Amino acid sequence: MPTPELILEGSVEYQFPLSKISYYRIGGPASVLVTPKSFNDLELISRYIAKEKSRFFILGWGSNLLFSDTGFNGVVIRMKYLFSEIEELPGNVLRVGASVGASTLLRRAQEKGYGNLARLTGIPGSVGGMVAMNAGTHLGEIKDLVTKVETVTIGESGSDLKIKTFIPDDKSFSYRKNHFLSPHELVTHVELRYEPKDPVVVKTEIDELYQRRKNTQPVDYPSCGSVFMNPPGMNAWQVIDQVGLRGHQIGKAQFSEKHSNFIINLGDANSNDVESLIELAKERAKKLLGIELHEEVKIIK
Ligand SMILES: Cc1cc2nc3c(=O)[nH]c(=O)nc-3n(C[C@H](O)[C@H](O)[C@H](O)COP(=O)(O)OP(=O)(O)OC[C@H]3O[C@@H](n4cnc5c(N)ncnc54)[C@H](O)[C@@H]3O)c2cc1C
Repeated sequence: MPTPELILEGSVEYQFPLSKISYYRIGGPASVLVTPKSFNDLELISRYIAKEKSRFFILGWGSNLLFSDTGFNGVVIRMKYLFSEIEELPGNVLRVGASVGASTLLRRAQEKGYGNLARLTGIPGSVGGMVAMNAGTHLGEIKDLVTKVETVTIGESGSDLKIKTFIPDDKSFSYRKNHFLSPHELVTHVELRYEPKDPVVVKTEIDELYQRRKNTQPVDYPSCGSVFMNPPGMNAWQVIDQVGLRGHQIGKAQFSEKHSNFIINLGDANSNDVESLIELAKERAKKLLGIELHEEVKIIK
């Protein structure tokens, strides 16, 4: 059956290599990659998915994903340009578009003195991805800043897209998880609470945190950051060290010497290389230490 034309203001690409847009630089082709640039685009995409009964996946900046070498048989919706504004609301609240990158948000925080946001320093994702993942650092998680989430549901047949708003409570998030987004829900905007501070103080704090990251993480290699979530009472990197896997390499993937909970792509690693390292670490952690490791990275097939 010929694929019906999908014409957007943004782009539509067929058999698009996901390795080009994932942080890992790994992944086979997506049947269709769409990058919406308007709300109307999103409606057309949603109708297309409903009509074709297609699988789909919502992609932020691809910094927490391992795409399989076999690619993704379905539509990948890339949130890169649509909803990319930061707006100040009364009461020290920002309304931030889902495609805004953490680095853009932090630059704005440095200019305007938005305190509290420093906890997001060094996370390379989009605001939509950070909310979906409840991203955070040793300073705290995004959940403590989120006062409202706006979403639309993709792929529902027979209706136009409707914007829904959600006010999170203390059960809405847990460690690297949200408990309110259905698999069909795409985050469009997020409201974040900040504390006004002297911009100079905010700038210094964020600059120092960036420097600390550079010193402790293998930022020169493609990766998805931490591969495993920390097990209770311990850091995942300590588990990797204790089972002798720091620096261990399979194919062109390696548990980083610099930060052993990062698997880095040394060149042309494939998804099997990374998955084999993940399986090896899980097996050894279970067998040698009785610890269950759980992936923070999302493996998409
Ligand atoms: C060098 C490096 C350092 C990192 N450090 C940290 C860290 O300190 N702390 C931390 O928490 N993470 C860290 N990460 C992981 C990653 O940056 C975060 O998980 C981030 O939140 C992912 O955002 P993203 O936009 O890249 O999402 P993606 O990786 O594209 O997607 C992640 C998940 O979010 C969903 N998603 C994305 N956008 C939307 C949307 N608009 N609506 C609905 N669902 C959506 C996707 O479907 C997927 O399930 C690091 C990664 C790297 C490469």
